[in-house]
Amino acid sequence: DGGGIPASQQTKELQAFKEQLEAAISAETSLQEGRKKLPLYAMREEMVQAMRDYQILIVSSETGSGKTTQIPQYILEENLAGGLTIACTQPRRVAAMSVAARVAEERGARLGGEVGYSVRFENKTTPGVTKIKFLTDGMLLRELQDDPTLSQYGAVMLDEAHERTISTDVLGVLLKDLARARGLETEQPLRIIISSATMNADKFSQYYDGAPLFFVPGRTFAVNTLFTQNPEANYLQAAITTVMQTHISQPLPGDILVFLTGQQDIDEACEELEATCKKLGNRVAPLIICPIYATLPSEVQAKIFEPTPKGCRKVVVSTNIAETSLTIDGIVFVVDCGLEKSNSVSNGISSLQTQPISRASAVQRAGRAGRVRDGICMRLYTEYAYSHELEEEPIPEIQRSNVESLVLQLKSLGVDNLLDFDFIDAPSAESLMGALESLYLLGALNSQGEVTRLGRKIVEVPSSPQLAAALIASANFGCTQEVLTIVSMLEESASLFYRPKDQKVHADSARQRFTHKEGGDHLTLMQVYNTWVEADYSITWCKENFVQYRSLQRARLVREQLEALCERIEIPPETTCGAGDYDKILKALLSGFFANTATLTRDGRHYRTLSGKIQTRIHPSSVLAANDQAYLPKLVMYSELRVTSEEWMSNVAPIEASWIGEVAPHFWKKAKGDGVEERKKLPKGQGRAA
Ligand code: ADP
Ligand code: MG
Repeated sequence: DGGGIPASQQTKELQAFKEQLEAAISAETSLQEGRKKLPLYAMREEMVQAMRDYQILIVSSETGSGKTTQIPQYILEENLAGGLTIACTQPRRVAAMSVAARVAEERGARLGGEVGYSVRFENKTTPGVTKIKFLTDGMLLRELQDDPTLSQYGAVMLDEAHERTISTDVLGVLLKDLARARGLETEQPLRIIISSATMNADKFSQYYDGAPLFFVPGRTFAVNTLFTQNPEANYLQAAITTVMQTHISQPLPGDILVFLTGQQDIDEACEELEATCKKLGNRVAPLIICPIYATLPSEVQAKIFEPTPKGCRKVVVSTNIAETSLTIDGIVFVVDCGLEKSNSVSNGISSLQTQPISRASAVQRAGRAGRVRDGICMRLYTEYAYSHELEEEPIPEIQRSNVESLVLQLKSLGVDNLLDFDFIDAPSAESLMGALESLYLLGALNSQGEVTRLGRKIVEVPSSPQLAAALIASANFGCTQEVLTIVSMLEESASLFYRPKDQKVHADSARQRFTHKEGGDHLTLMQVYNTWVEADYSITWCKENFVQYRSLQRARLVREQLEALCERIEIPPETTCGAGDYDKILKALLSGFFANTATLTRDGRHYRTLSGKIQTRIHPSSVLAANDQAYLPKLVMYSELRVTSEEWMSNVAPIEASWIGEVAPHFWKKAKGDGVEERKKLPKGQGRAA
């Protein structure tokens, strides 16, 4: 009835509400004023006019000028998309999510309303309502499968085009065609903005037949660049020491941005920095430590943008995501390890490697220090290495990665002759042929190179063709529930277990409880997940068992999405065989991963991959690595090769030779042709060459 609230309390509530409203209004006013201070704003009129006049526009400026956050809003405010949605693609999911949140905030809108995002396994948009949609380049490429003319969009901005990811590159090609079909004179024109940091802009202009290039001069300050005298033996330690020295010796304010290679590095660095600060206590100013990498949940990501409180210093420890995709205000010091994790292919086998960055990237990284005032960039490599050992520009991803997924997607979009496709930089013919062959062996293409029924299903699954094939095969073995779990966990496996320095023994013995020797890492992953489910998805359980809660949470989310997708690809999701029948589970997985198999060599320690004949070993993090040499399985399947100083197989499970013949007869025939079975038949101790 509402009559029970005393008048005084009502006034109090009203007062509180008014205060909140005022705070919100003043925050919004300052956000709006902030928008006007961005370098892009000074050129708004000209840019809008250029967009009216030209269908394709290349925009290039220093990072932080406002391209990503402002251009989609200009298009909306000037009604340049004809009432349709504006897509803005990002190479990285973190960037898509965080920029969407920022733009929603600037517009005083709810995230998922007028402004939304769509990344793999997570969609925060409302059809018909969302007008600005940030999405990963990969997601837009997927949308093209269902809607080849992108009819729901009136404008597409390909952001961060200079990064040259495979998906952005290919979208660039497909958009060139779409632009012709949906020209400015048609009823539903499609406007295209190609946006890039200062590198590569000319190349895009040329590619789009001389499309106008709109250059926005930025405001930047001088950056003093320092090198190490000698090469660093351990870049992680060097980075940590440099951060602490900077923190102690440099005046406040002035935040630090550190570039490392990946989640493991970053977590380790953050842990050590925290420990060191604890030891120093209040002898130094408080240091706010913020990690940032792709799989970080959005609440934690938001922390990096919070203004640093007076008297404190913030240190952001990042992968190369902060190189151009995200701009963090207040950075004065940059620490650059000079390395990044990136894909590379050799002998047709792709792997993730830590590699030196290019000079162009090094320059970008240094530039991050000069946004607010003169800054300092500390490079953890020598000047000699910079000028003699780094490549001038990064090699486009398409030329250093496995292109299977891409080839299958293009094929299913109706691109028949890949050798004639108008790539911005084409992958080598060899790598295209390799991909065609793998897809044929997988059964996704037939011998004419046409997409099969299976291939069409594989395209629907937003994972690698191997994982998709494994999931689809699980229907034949009656173990879809199990394979769903393993497939979802595989993507999280690298960040699943943690081993705090002072509790290694406890962590290892906790891990021991999940170990499934016969089923290898795959079944072990399943055991972890199932035990967590039994513990009712508990956080405490994760802490007690040294398992990352957020990795499991993500796996759960992915699993739900994949399970929901099963119907679309006509596989009954509910089949289950139970953990005891692990042969079936491994066979289903092998149906996707038969090409990732290796046999034990005669030294009893190394393996040789069946295809590519690469010498490799089981990664120490595998449950099989703890095996006595005498018990190492003769034949294994792995999910990934990682290259450090050696080639390592990660996520390894023992398999039997006959299974390969059963699930992948074409491949097995070929492998036998290469001599796999012959070697096996030799009596023990009798070498072939000897
Ligand atoms: P560009 O795309 O040209 O590099 P952006 O549009 O990303 O520039 O950035 C413009 C401004 O918006 C920067 O000052 C940046 O700090 C701010 N900004 C961008 N994203 C966020 C965010 N998620 N939170 C807070 N500020 C942000
Ligand atoms: Mg940007």
